[in-house]
Amino acid sequence: MSIGRCDKRRMQIFRFWTESPNCHWCGQPTLLIFRGAYFAAGENFLPFRDNEATIDHLNSKLSSERGQYNDGKRRRVLSCKKCNHNRSVQEHIDTPIEELRERCSKGMKMSALKKIINEYKDDIVAMLLGEEDVDNEALSYALYEYYVDDMPIGTAKGRDGDPDEWVFNQLQKEPEIHALMREMTI
Ligand SMILES: [Zn+2]
Repeated sequence: MSIGRCDKRRMQIFRFWTESPNCHWCGQPTLLIFRGAYFAAGENFLPFRDNEATIDHLNSKLSSERGQYNDGKRRRVLSCKKCNHNRSVQEHIDTPIEELRERCSKGMKMSALKKIINEYKDDIVAMLLGEEDVDNEALSYALYEYYVDDMPIGTAKGRDGDPDEWVFNQLQKEPEIHALMREMTI
């Protein structure tokens, strides 16, 4: 049995909480609730308590710095549900709606690419390693659909460019792909 994302999260809360059970923001003691145990016992609704222990990001979810550094500093903290919630609400209040929309569509686009990469990992790697016999129509369509709005119209229509070639070149510039190639070819 592997440890799911959810279990890992619970373990992280537990670890933080045993180090110090106080909320990073307001300093009040938090209450550790093993939600998994409730759901496993057949409960299907468990409202959050204001003083319940949660994990919060030290940097705002909307901060441009978030995720851009990795200097070993802790980026998550223990927070009571109330502070966690209030911070999140405040961040949205402080951020212009255009920016919220832009971040949302960027996020959606990124997760669409991640989905394609996950689904067609082997074929994508083979393709980028120059194996000419990769013939996966579903992958071609998925990538075409993903990139079509970014392509020059003549290329998209196949009039003065090859859409597959354009996609191939574009794919190689994606940081997600660099990570995949490192992971798959080491
Ligand atoms: Zn708090």
